[in-house]
Amino acid sequence: MHTCRFCAEREAEHTETAWCAVCQAELDAFFTTHGYTGGRTHNAAELESVRALRNPIRKLLTSDRDRAVEIVNTILAERQAIPALVRHDEWDYHLHAIAASAPLADRIAVETAMAMIDVIRSDELSRLSVCADPSCNGLVIDLSRNRSRRFCSTTCGNRVAVAAFRARKNSGGAEPPSEGRGRRRVRPGTPEQPSRRATDE
Ligand SMILES: [Zn+2]
Ligand SMILES: [Zn+2]
Ligand SMILES: [Zn+2]
Repeated sequence: MHTCRFCAEREAEHTETAWCAVCQAELDAFFTTHGYTGGRTHNAAELESVRALRNPIRKLLTSDRDRAVEIVNTILAERQAIPALVRHDEWDYHLHAIAASAPLADRIAVETAMAMIDVIRSDELSRLSVCADPSCNGLVIDLSRNRSRRFCSTTCGNRVAVAAFRARKNSGGAEPPSEGRGRRRVRPGTPEQPSRRATDE
């Protein structure tokens, strides 16, 4: 019996692949959700190389501007990216910088680097941050007009709100008098739901 080498939680599907169906399905979902095109091999090397991108991409998305430039330039040079205008599916002409037949991990790296070019040129790196929930490492992409987004998901936002509510309750007043007019108090019934979901993750 083997456990999945990626999540170390579920049982591996086959001894040769050594990972579970959930981890495989995650890549399929990622591919579809983010509108990737081009070929897939669905084999061990593909899943492994995409998983190996997690740290480098995270570094790219959380670095300061000058460091991000270095990483982008390295990614583009290493993959010998050549910009080309293409038109496909419902999309009008836009830039691709790597062949649709290149390995998926290389395409993800180059696409991300290309997207970061726009973020760096418009000096908008402050829109990228790490989730303000200390128990979460998720990345936040803040597309809001007032740049107010601090959490990667509403689950994290709720979890922190619930923790703050409990802390206030334990320290005396469940309904702190400092709450200004117009601010909504957390209703007593609501804390259960987000905390239950949080433990399921
Ligand atoms: Zn797994
Ligand atoms: Zn495209
Ligand atoms: Zn989060």
